Amino acid sequence: MPGYYRSALTMSEFILAVYFLLYEILFFWRIHKIQILPLVMFAVILLASRSTQKMSMRMNIGIYTIVTTVWCGWYIHSFGWGSGGQHLLIPMLVFNFFNIYYAPWLKIINTVGLITYRMLLYAWTLNNQPVILPDSLTNIIFQTINSVLLFIILSVDFIIFSSSIQETERELRLNNQALHKEADTDPLTQLPNRRAMYDRINDFSRDFPESPFTVAIGDIDFFKKVNDTYGHHCGDYTLKQLADLFRNSAIDKYSVCRWGGEEFCFFLPGKNVDEAWNVMFDLCEAVRKMQLSFEGHEFSITITIGLEENDFRSTIDQILEKADKKLYMGKVAGRNRVVM
Ligand code: GH3
Ligand code: MG
Ligand code: MG
Repeated sequence: MPGYYRSALTMSEFILAVYFLLYEILFFWRIHKIQILPLVMFAVILLASRSTQKMSMRMNIGIYTIVTTVWCGWYIHSFGWGSGGQHLLIPMLVFNFFNIYYAPWLKIINTVGLITYRMLLYAWTLNNQPVILPDSLTNIIFQTINSVLLFIILSVDFIIFSSSIQETERELRLNNQALHKEADTDPLTQLPNRRAMYDRINDFSRDFPESPFTVAIGDIDFFKKVNDTYGHHCGDYTLKQLADLFRNSAIDKYSVCRWGGEEFCFFLPGKNVDEAWNVMFDLCEAVRKMQLSFEGHEFSITITIGLEENDFRSTIDQILEKADKKLYMGKVAGRNRVVM
């Protein structure tokens, strides 16, 4: 059972325990007699309130239901309908409807049961005089504490339930955001992944259908050699360093993602192929100049990039395919270059 349900039950039972004690004191003050039942109720419900952690929820709710039902019957039998003992049945509705283990049909049956019980109690008072006929001040006092009790229990329950629902909603929203980010991010380099890049290019084409853009695919030259010479960890390190370089020099010029393996894709919104070539050329130079150092090994790498501008006819996949062909041409032509 969720924690908020347990808290609401604990609080409600504790408030009821205080109520039974208060009732006993008021009864003694007004009627000058001691009653055993409120004291028993006090002990049982206090025990239940202190045992919500240890006892099964089903059993605890059972105790709460029996105490409330017996108390209301006994109270109406003693004082009649006018002093408001029947109010105590209403909080049971709250626990009935917020119980996540009850099927809807059970909730309806419970509700019908409660209404029936209440109506039976009322019918009983039509034909029977109450055992105790309190004076009007006593009646006002008991009516007041019963009404106040009802409002306190309901308010406490609703505060606990509503704040918990809001908290759950907030957590769900944050988890959802985190999941979205995870689904769009490459775990090694923390760059956006292929999926995120597709979304970005699609969004741009939809929002600025008239605007030019260029895509570029870059592939590390002889990357296998890095892995083979210095080990796979060094390869990973190289990918991360490269990702940092791309991220830091992107500014507003391009978006970058890890396209897969040792390939990266660049998206240059608003740039034609000449402008994009300049940006990518500088980047290619920066990669060449980047000094890498892993476990005492100093080395550097180069990268080959193929570029393709949007021609407003091809699909995004077709543009990317053309960029890939340019990349291949760059490899064949000797690598470490930008081909447009
Ligand atoms: P070329 O210049 O023709 O691109 O040569 P290359 O060696 O880079 O070409 P190839 O595509 O054959 O090799 C890419 C290598 O990248 C193979 C693969 O083991 C390695 N690789 C792909 N992803 C990862 C990764 O996440 N970590 C590491 N360490 N290596 C990776
Ligand atoms: Mg490759
Ligand atoms: Mg390669």
